[in-house]
Amino acid sequence: MSAPIQDVNGAHTGDGGTTPPAAPGDVIARVAELRRLIAYHSERYYELDSPEIPDADFDALVAELRDLEGRFPALRSPISPTEQVGAPPSVSFAPVRHTVPMMSLDDVFGSDDLRAWAQRMERIVPDVAGAAIVCELKIDGLAISLTYRHGVLVQAATRGDGLVGEDVTPNVGTITDIPSRLAWPAGRGSIPSLIEIRGEVYMPVSAFEQLNERQIQTGQKPFANPRNSAAGSLRQKDPSVTATRPLAFWAYQLGAVEGLDTEVMPARHSDAMALIGECGLPVNPEMRVVTGIEEVIAFCRKWEQHRHDLDYQIDGAVAKVDDLDLQQRLGATSHAPRWAIAYKFPPEERSTKLVAIEVSIGRTGRATPFAVLDPVVVGGSTVSLATLHNADQVHLKDVRPGDTVIIRKAGDVIPEVVGPILSMRPEGSEPWSFPTVCPSCGGPLVRLEGESDTFCTNLDCPAQRVQRIVHFASRGAMDIEGLGEKRVIQLVDLGLLADPGDLYRLDARKLVDLEGLGELSVDNLMRAIDGSKQRPFSRLLVGLGIRHLGPAGCRELARAMPNLDRLMAAPAEQLAAIEGIGPVIAGSVVAFFASERNRAVLAKLRESGVSLGVAGESAPTQRSAPGPDAVQAPGGLPAAVEVSPGIPQTLQGRSVVVTGSIDGYTREEAEEAIEARGGKSPGTVSQRTWVVVMGRDPGTAKLRKAEQLGVRVVDASGFEELLSTGALPDEA
Ligand code: NAD
Repeated sequence: MSAPIQDVNGAHTGDGGTTPPAAPGDVIARVAELRRLIAYHSERYYELDSPEIPDADFDALVAELRDLEGRFPALRSPISPTEQVGAPPSVSFAPVRHTVPMMSLDDVFGSDDLRAWAQRMERIVPDVAGAAIVCELKIDGLAISLTYRHGVLVQAATRGDGLVGEDVTPNVGTITDIPSRLAWPAGRGSIPSLIEIRGEVYMPVSAFEQLNERQIQTGQKPFANPRNSAAGSLRQKDPSVTATRPLAFWAYQLGAVEGLDTEVMPARHSDAMALIGECGLPVNPEMRVVTGIEEVIAFCRKWEQHRHDLDYQIDGAVAKVDDLDLQQRLGATSHAPRWAIAYKFPPEERSTKLVAIEVSIGRTGRATPFAVLDPVVVGGSTVSLATLHNADQVHLKDVRPGDTVIIRKAGDVIPEVVGPILSMRPEGSEPWSFPTVCPSCGGPLVRLEGESDTFCTNLDCPAQRVQRIVHFASRGAMDIEGLGEKRVIQLVDLGLLADPGDLYRLDARKLVDLEGLGELSVDNLMRAIDGSKQRPFSRLLVGLGIRHLGPAGCRELARAMPNLDRLMAAPAEQLAAIEGIGPVIAGSVVAFFASERNRAVLAKLRESGVSLGVAGESAPTQRSAPGPDAVQAPGGLPAAVEVSPGIPQTLQGRSVVVTGSIDGYTREEAEEAIEARGGKSPGTVSQRTWVVVMGRDPGTAKLRKAEQLGVRVVDASGFEELLSTGALPDEA
């Protein structure tokens, strides 16, 4: 057969056999365009360590190209990016030819794809059925090959294009995780003349955050993410710069080996990893050997949920056939081994079009700009709106309507607009300016000097009214079921509600004919409103939405000042002396009660029979250690403490921090349950924290702080037991 002729796109043509479908002109043009885009973004990513678009967007370009090449095989080409690994090495570094090519990994995005991979392997090598599979985390850093001759590190190279990498030996020499000499273990024969160890250089998230703080303090540009700062830090011409960067390493593969005694030659990938660990290189402790694809799926699912528990970024999991002989028999495609697969987690960054910037008015009148986006699936959910916080943030990020922006949503964190992709900015776009009038009432929007927020100062602004009532009825406050934002807007528009006090005066007969409200739902709503009258005083305080006063402060305040009359009579100095309150909150509380308007709402609540706290003395401010003079209730508790009598004080004086969600509890309910048992549940981890209870999607900051301070972290599955016995369940 004659050598294939290549067209301008590098596509094969005219190699005989059945004629593949001819590609229409627009497909040919799109393929050329995709190849151009992929080459451009590869250069930014691999060579400049400064990507412009999120990985998922890049992957989508590659997937589209792969799809077109699949449908029109005539367009395939060995020089297409779908057939290549990484990018050629930069001329700034000496080239290093890899003895064994450093390939890429095929990736999959779901359980069925993983099952298909297992079936594919079994079709090629039936012995793979039932074979052990090693599951590993897919570390998001950059691949490195380390060559040790007679136990001494002689060369470190990047992956490059898989065949030729870049010599970064002096730079790697500055990474403390990577020994310059192997600690060759006794019982493993004589030290081999050559051993190549592969792994990922990465930057721990905490170190990355510190580094970025330093960058900002010294007036330098912060790095985009840990992966790019790791790559940029390692690929420095001057190794002394690398030395200042907190890089770390996880080994994940044995490469070329020469002169290792045959009897100690590993037969399995897991054996090889054990050997690498014994030699003194870090091997990730989460690696597991499993059997059957369902166990692989379980591993992937677990880490998809827990990816933010780690102090390093992972973008997926990698499954590898353990038996090296089976690996050999399975072989590789042009760019990836068949015996391994990368399971990619849903992306946490995507780009989308910013359609408009609008402003919403909150219950305090604060005007918050937010981005209206073309809906995009990111972090596992569809995002169509994202807050932009305040005017300064919009200008700092310089996002403009019409921009293509990067959206980030990680774990349970609210979606964030990272910034615009400047190369995609439409011509003639203008910076956005903050509106001068309130979109709801048309009143002026005012930004006070020295403040970052802008406010609508009209207290009668309908948007503020709605938000005050919505907040009052919300779960953490008076918890009135069925009274969401839509319903409140409807009732405010009809003039039936103006403030939370009106809720208890609603006339059921006027509601039954309203759109979307039948007799039954009116009944339920009235019952929910009535039921809320007996909420604890602290919840009423939350509902009032006093500036600066959060739920924990409301509980402290309600403990010290158990009813409204006492609280309203207390001077600011007395309030400021309460634990967790301080002068700013105290001043805000006093100002709140001084307002005629607020007093009128409270009078309505009183008239309607809403509980305004319990009669009684205040509890001592230091609840954890009641003094001998404290007023004692029969159960030995200070009389006015907001706990149901009879609850055993299993957590007396202990500080239990909750992070993430616990089944069966809202955040407030979990904190209340702790406090009802004599404990405290502050929002931050400190030296005084006794234990951190970790629920689903926990906050990394709290976990990291706990680790730094040596505070115990326990799994939320033992929360009930902790409440009832005060004993710590097994550590998480
Ligand atoms: P890949 O990065 O998805 O997978 C292969 C790599 O995974 C290996 O080279 C190795 O470095 C790494 N890895 C981490 N943990 C591993 C483990 N336990 N075992 C084995 N390998 C492990 O594949 P790729 O071909 O290098 O894909 C390129 C990646 O770079 C994609 O994620 C792509 O989105 C990204 N990229 C992004 C841009 C952009 O503009 N944003 C441009 C180019 C490439």
